[in-house]
Order: sequence, then C-alpha cells, then structure tokens
Amino acid sequence: MGDNRDVYKSIRRIMDRHSAYLFGIADISYSYYYDNYKRALVIAVPHKRITTTDNYVEEEFENLLCEAREKSSQVIKEIADFCRGNNIKYHVPPMAQKNEETLIAPFSYKYAAVYAGLGWIGKNDLLVTEEYGPRVRLSAILIDCSLPAGKPIFYSRCDDECRQCVEACPYNLISGVQWDIGKYRDELIDYHACNTKRSLFIKRHGRKNACGLCMAACPLGSG
Ligand code: SF4
Ligand code: SF4
Repeated sequence: MGDNRDVYKSIRRIMDRHSAYLFGIADISYSYYYDNYKRALVIAVPHKRITTTDNYVEEEFENLLCEAREKSSQVIKEIADFCRGNNIKYHVPPMAQKNEETLIAPFSYKYAAVYAGLGWIGKNDLLVTEEYGPRVRLSAILIDCSLPAGKPIFYSRCDDECRQCVEACPYNLISGVQWDIGKYRDELIDYHACNTKRSLFIKRHGRKNACGLCMAACPLGSG
C-alpha cells in the first residue's frame, strides 16, 4: 500500500459500504497506546430500532445491543483484514472493563469518539451523537498510520435545561452535571452503583441487566 492517502481511501471505501454507520478518526496522542498506534478509527453503529421510555422492554433492548455488537464486530473485522493484507500494524482494544474494581477499560471508545468528533458525552455519561443521540454501539480499532484526524468535541451539546436522562434513572445515579473534557466520570454518574444494580440480575439472567433507561429517555435521535 502506498501512502496514508491510499490507506484512507481504502478504509473510506469499506465504510461507504456501511453508510448508516458513523465513522471518525481520532488522534490518540493523549493515550499511552500512541507509542505504537497513531490513530483510532471509531465506528458508531446505530441501533436497529429506536428505544424510548414508552416502548422500553429490557429483553428487547438487550437484543438490540447484541445485534449492534455483531455488526460492530463485523466492520472491525473488515478493517482488520484490510490492515493485515497491507501490513499495517493494528490492534483491537477490548471494550469491556476487565477490572470490576475500577470499571475502566484499557482504551476508552467513548473518549476516542469525542476526539474523532463523533459526538459528546451526555449527562448520562453516554456518547451522544447528533444523528442518533446515544442509541449507538461504539467500536474502535487502533492503527499505526497518521491518517487525517477529526475535530474533537470538548464540550457537551446537551441542552442545559434537559434532565430527561437524570429523571429516568430509577436509582437517582445521574447527577445532572454537564460534561466537558476536564470532567471525571464520577462527577456525572455513580458508575459503581449503576454496575452493582445491574449486576443483581446476573443470577437471574446470566448477564447484567442491560438497563438502557437513561439512553431511552434521551430526546436526541429519538425521531
Ligand atoms: S444504566 Fe440504568 S441504573 Fe445505570 S445510570 Fe442509567 S438508568 Fe441508572
Ligand atoms: S437526555 Fe438530555 S441531558 Fe441526557 S443525554 Fe440526552 S440530551 Fe443530554
């Protein structure tokens, strides 16, 4: 493969086959991965159906998440195959937090999405996009190629007055604080309590409760 422009064009061609997905490129010089990978390609796959608090059913919501996760894995695989075929060094960082203590993933897809300019962090601590609101599944692949990066979004675009996600949480875990790049997650949401509440379902469901209530309540992207 020639220069970065050819790589960019080829990746764009892959993404053009998935025109409903949002795609952005983040300069990850903020991350310790930068020693080995210059950019994160970030993809946001929209949910197939729009969940609202009126039509919310936990099992159906879980199915939507699984479906979007499948699609994300598929497109990441397409890009990884392309990189492998062209000797471009890449890495797919895991999304899930391995550590139940800190609940921090090795590489934050949300943070990368903000740096790629795909959206901002809402009061519900979810990535919120102009197109689909928070109803997207994020994925990312790191590549060692200095492709043109997007323009980061460092301030929330949520309406100051909006509290719909705050009020949707049955456990009052969302503080209502507006995000900016300097904010810590704990200032927005009691993430540990959210995890604890959702984990109560493991015995019954064999998985954590998906709980998308603070996502379903968001008016952005709800049509
Ligand atoms: S996922 Fe559910 S429990 Fe957690 S903050 Fe959102 S509404 Fe509250
Ligand atoms: S419900 Fe309102 S405050 Fe919460 S993420 Fe959506 S727009 Fe932002």
